[in-house]
Amino acid sequence: MNYSIALVPGDGIGPDVIAPAAEVLDAAGDKFGHVFNYVELEAGGRAIDHAGEPLPPETLEAAKQCDALLLGAVGGPKWETLPGNLRPERALLGLRAGLEVYANLRPAALLPQLRSACPLKDEVLAAGNGGGKTGFDLLIVRELTGGIYFGKRGRSGNGDSAFDTETYSKEEIDRVLRTAYAAAEGRRKKLCMVDKANVLESSRLWRELTQAVSREYPHIETSYMYVDNCSMQLVRSPGQFDVIVTSNLFGDILSDEASAITGSIGMLASASLGAPSSSPAQKGRRGIYEPIHGSAPDIAGRDIANPLAAILSAALMLRYSFGLEREALTIEAAVNAALDAGLRTRDIAGRGADTGAEKIVGTREMGNAVLNAVLSGA
Ligand code: NAD
Repeated sequence: MNYSIALVPGDGIGPDVIAPAAEVLDAAGDKFGHVFNYVELEAGGRAIDHAGEPLPPETLEAAKQCDALLLGAVGGPKWETLPGNLRPERALLGLRAGLEVYANLRPAALLPQLRSACPLKDEVLAAGNGGGKTGFDLLIVRELTGGIYFGKRGRSGNGDSAFDTETYSKEEIDRVLRTAYAAAEGRRKKLCMVDKANVLESSRLWRELTQAVSREYPHIETSYMYVDNCSMQLVRSPGQFDVIVTSNLFGDILSDEASAITGSIGMLASASLGAPSSSPAQKGRRGIYEPIHGSAPDIAGRDIANPLAAILSAALMLRYSFGLEREALTIEAAVNAALDAGLRTRDIAGRGADTGAEKIVGTREMGNAVLNAVLSGA
C-alpha cells in the first residue's frame, strides 16, 4: 500500500528529528511492504522567512491532500518579537483547525530504562498498581478545538474587567469521548473523565454525556475525578490511571504535568486526531503527529537532539491514521531495543555512562540504532 505523508520539519531541532523519523518509517515500509511518499512542506519560522507568513495557504492545501502529517517543531528567538498572528506557533493552530483534528492524544509512560529521569519516589511509582509492578503507563486525551481557548472573550467596563468563556456543544464532547473510549479498548480498559463538575455547568454536560456514552462500553471501567484532585493524583499515584479524557484547558495543564513525571521531554510523542477518514489509505483517522517538545534552538543542528519522540510520533501515525498496528509495535519495540542496548542521547543519560552501562550518542546514531532494530526485528 502507498501512503502520502506531509512532512513539516519546521524550525530548530525539527529537521534534526524528522529526518531520522522518516528513515525509520521507510525501514518499517521496507520490512512490511509499504511505500511512504513524503511531501515536504514549510510552516513556522522557516515559512515566515520564505513566504512572509507562518502557514502559507499552499502548505495547508497540500497537507489536506496527504494521508497524515508529521511535524517537528516550530518557533525560535528569531521570530519572538513578531506580533501574535505572525508568530510561528500560529501555524500549529492553523494546521489543527484546517485539518479539523479535535482530539489530542499524549501517551506518558515511565520506561524502566529511564527510571532515573523520573522525579517520583519508588513508593509513589508502586502506588495505584494493585501491588504489582511499579511505574505508570497512561494516555491523556485532550479536547483540542473547543472550550475556553476558543470561547467568547473580551474586556468590559473601561477595560478593567476581562472574561473568557468555556463553551462546549454536545457534539464536541461526544466525539472526543468516543476517541478516548476507542483508545481505552486497545489498552487496559479504564477511563477517567476529569472535570470540575462541582462548580462548572460545562463540566456537568461532560459528565452527563460520559454517563450516556459509557453505557455503550460496559466492559470499560469509567470513573470521574475533579481536576484539582487529578493534578494531585498524578504525582501521588500515577499508576492508577489508564486513559484520562478531559477538556482543552484541563488537558493542556494535565498533559504537561504527565510529561514532566516521565522526566524526559525528548521521549514523548503526540497524536492529534480528526474524524474517521474516507480515504482508502487511511484505515483510521486524519491526524497530525508531533513530538511534544519545542524547537530547542539551544541545541539545533548539533546532532544532539533526542529523535525518539519524533520516531514514536511516527509510530502513532501508523497506528491511528493507517491502522498499521504491527508496524507501530515494531517501531516501539525498536526504540526499546536501542534503550536496552544502553544508547542514550544527552537528555536521557543517567549515571550509566560512568559505569559503561550507557553510551551517549547523537541524533543520527540513535536514529540508526532504531532503524537497524526495525530491520532486524529486534
Ligand atoms: P523546548 O521544548 O524547545 O526546549 C526545552 C528544553 O528541552 C531545552 O533545554 C531543550 O534543549 C530541551 N529539549 C527539547 N527537546 C529536546 C530533544 N528532542 N532532545 C533533547 N533536548 C530537548 O521548549 P522552549 O525552549 O520553551 O521553546 C523553544 C521554542 O519552541 C519556542 O520558540 C517555543 O515557542 C517553541 N515551541 C514549539 C512547540 C511546537 O512546535 N509544538 C512546542 C513548544 C515550544
